[in-house]
Amino acid sequence: MKLIDRYNRVHNYLRISLTDKCNYNCIYCNPNRLDSKLTKKNILSFEEILRVIEIFAKELEFKKFRFTGGEPLVRRDVFSFFREVQKLKNIYGFSTGITTNGSLLKGRTDELKASGIDSLNISLDSLDKYNFHTITKNDESERILSVIDESIRSGYSPVKVNAVIIKGINDLEIINFVDHFKDMNVNIRFIEFMPFGSNGWERNGLINYKEMKNIIEGKYSISALSSYKNSVAKDFQLKEHTAKISFVSSMSEHFCYSCNRVRISSMGKFRLCLFSEGKHEINFKELFQKNYSDEEIVDELMEAIQHKWEKHPEPEELSEMMSNNMMSIGG
Ligand code: SAM
Repeated sequence: MKLIDRYNRVHNYLRISLTDKCNYNCIYCNPNRLDSKLTKKNILSFEEILRVIEIFAKELEFKKFRFTGGEPLVRRDVFSFFREVQKLKNIYGFSTGITTNGSLLKGRTDELKASGIDSLNISLDSLDKYNFHTITKNDESERILSVIDESIRSGYSPVKVNAVIIKGINDLEIINFVDHFKDMNVNIRFIEFMPFGSNGWERNGLINYKEMKNIIEGKYSISALSSYKNSVAKDFQLKEHTAKISFVSSMSEHFCYSCNRVRISSMGKFRLCLFSEGKHEINFKELFQKNYSDEEIVDELMEAIQHKWEKHPEPEELSEMMSNNMMSIGG
């Protein structure tokens, strides 16, 4: 059985937020330094998440699971959890990934690989110490760069490096990113700045993917790669170098028509879209407490997916309606 919505989109990729806690307070993600809303009672336990994964993999043919947050690696015993996921992976044959700021990965990239996590996205918004601090409120740029090196040595191929580009903050670093990573086994992903609950998004701050691409083409030649069907990114190969460059154009050219993703927050709320307001949210925590069977849960999911919108609203509208922050939803 497949999770198909009324626009015929087949969903087979689940992004799971393991926690809304983070050791960074990035200006575009948690500008007001909101505290975690999690308690022992409302957080989805690892056992519950394993059941969620099994339902999606076994009943709905999901092929990919990504763990994010908040910062997924701040959750205690997360590596043991990954090893449990690996057992399900061996049965159902899906792939796994994490999105992390990399801070807690120092010295642990081999362990991450051995625990079965297939793909690794590391967020790094600046190569400049001062700018890195302005954005993340931390002084760890060199640490994260060394974690990226380590991850490549551990066999992540490529390591995806996520950089959210904000005009007036780090747009002058676009070329520096390419200069730095051009001969490494890295896919640099330049992400358009998105509006989330009071992160001060303005159209002025948005540097769109075409502008970013032009800046890069001022110095480098790039050639388009045929991105796979559900890719959120426009992918390019840097000619005569090893790195790939991608642009995530959620704001200027959305990719909703090929969306294959759904999400679960750390409190177990099922979300149809990163930007949806949760009107048709299923709460897995509640379903588990009410002893719903797997079949009943699948019925709920089949009903909920019919409410997925065709596409998300324009950024201006999003910036008005976003009461949620990215951390609780899971980026
Ligand atoms: N803590 C992890 C990290 O730093 O990668 C995972 C969570 S973070 C919310 C996931 C991704 O969302 C990061 O790559 C981050 O840069 C991106 N992100 C967060 N807020 C964003 C925004 N307002 N616009 C664009 N990307 C954003």
